[in-house]
Amino acid sequence: MNLTGHSAIVTGGSRGIGRAIAIRLATEGADVAFTYVTNESAALEAKAAIESLNRKVLAIKADASTAIGANEVVEKTIEAFGKIDILVNNAGITRDTLLMRMSEDDWDAVLDTNLKGVFLLTKAAIRPMMSAKRGKIITISSVVGLVGNPGQANYCASKAGVIGFSKSLAKEVGSRGITVNVIAPGYIETDMTEKLNEAQRKAIMDLIPLKRIGRPQEVAGLAAFLASTDADYITGEVIKLDGGMAM
Ligand code: NDP
Repeated sequence: MNLTGHSAIVTGGSRGIGRAIAIRLATEGADVAFTYVTNESAALEAKAAIESLNRKVLAIKADASTAIGANEVVEKTIEAFGKIDILVNNAGITRDTLLMRMSEDDWDAVLDTNLKGVFLLTKAAIRPMMSAKRGKIITISSVVGLVGNPGQANYCASKAGVIGFSKSLAKEVGSRGITVNVIAPGYIETDMTEKLNEAQRKAIMDLIPLKRIGRPQEVAGLAAFLASTDADYITGEVIKLDGGMAM
């Protein structure tokens, strides 16, 4: 998985899965630009971790759900690294509640970040990839985008949406040497899942054949593989990483 000389963008790289992916890509040799929105101290810590690997790093405060933010991320990355080889659409949020209680704002916030954000940044990044005739686009969906989950109609719609988006794009840009794949994690130990209480954890564990929650580093390993030349003949795939939960 040698990514030496490659340039990567990772959205939401300051914490959780995105942070692990940013660090793993840098460990494999890539220069990394990552985005965040609010948590400055986490962003600085992630930036320092990548710098300690002797890679170039940009921590960009930019809202992935706006066109201004997406264009800014691509412009700054090209300015600093000269190209974009890898795009990891990782940033995502939840606003869980039953549909009966779900506000339009709950719907819009989740769809704007998780689905529209993927459209905007991918659209901005695809042009330099088309010119270079190579590129790796990896989007983090979720197993609930495949199987649904009560209380997450907005989140599941956004995560199913990125799968349809990615398969369509894979067909559009395959002839230009660009691959487009999706990772669908199950439960992964991050701030997003920290809110689960003991009863919820036990109920989840009963559904996971491997009997544990996943680690961000395990998602990062798959992302690094999909970003590497070892995965050059894989496109339009949705790979579950869930301890067997949704098989
Ligand atoms: P976290 O909540 O731990 O981290 C989210 C990251 O995204 C942070 O870096 C945050 O920045 C950033 N972010 C949030 N909104 C935006 C935005 N609008 N623009 C730019 N950056 C943004 O999430 P996870 O690591 O748990 O999840 C990462 C991805 O994996 C998400 O897409 C999630 O849906 C998906 N996923 C997670 C699972 C899990 O169990 N954890 C399971 C399946 C999928 P800041 O620090 O500034 O807030």
